[in-house]
Amino acid sequence: MQKKITIAIDGYAGCGKSTLAKALAKALNYTFIDSGAMYRAVAFYCLENGFISENDEIDSTQLLKQLDQLSINLSPDQKVWLNNQDITEVIRSPKVARVVSKVAAIKAVRTKLVELQRQMSVGGGIVMDGRDIGTVVFPNAELKIFVTASIEVRTQRRLAELKTKGEDIDQEAVQHNLLDRDHQDSTRAESPLKQATDAVVLDTSALSREEQLDWALSRVALLVTD
Ligand code: C5P
Repeated sequence: MQKKITIAIDGYAGCGKSTLAKALAKALNYTFIDSGAMYRAVAFYCLENGFISENDEIDSTQLLKQLDQLSINLSPDQKVWLNNQDITEVIRSPKVARVVSKVAAIKAVRTKLVELQRQMSVGGGIVMDGRDIGTVVFPNAELKIFVTASIEVRTQRRLAELKTKGEDIDQEAVQHNLLDRDHQDSTRAESPLKQATDAVVLDTSALSREEQLDWALSRVALLVTD
């Protein structure tokens, strides 16, 4: 039997990390975990419960009081559940994207979600994507990929994705959100987004999904032996 490894995929917003991670997990018959969906779930909870003011300030005291009661699950069909409510689609909204990086900067939120991410990964055979997977969640992951892409390509991809979902949002707003999240994610005190020293870089700007998958599979092949 082939050895099952842990694969950590990190990078900036909208680089195609989740798409690649999902395809890689499918090809290898591994479990895919979208850690960003978990941060989005907490951000959605804050919005739903009025913990975020009109100028996007978070009432973290209220959030921290209720954090223990939050139950977040990712089902094998890639659905995201918050206290048994299916929030798969709503967490992709621009409203959630606008506030998620602020929520993700709160230490207690990260502690809870990192613990959950590790619990979900017991047994190996995991592809997890996010911002701190190779640096914090799985510093010993056998394969670490740091994904990049030009801001133009990222903006166009995200715009196309939002348009197919019927979101009415312009190019400038999408680009601003990607850059703003990158800035917040890279400069926060807790587990900032950064490339792990032992990560390999994949620039997806000019690569098709198939090319990205082939590249990643060839990296896996170097690590797993029969
Ligand atoms: O991956 P995605 O773009 O859906 O992530 C949404 C946000 O969640 C990121 O911009 C970041 O603020 C936060 N995040 C994080 N750490 C992770 C995954 C996501 O801080 N491991």
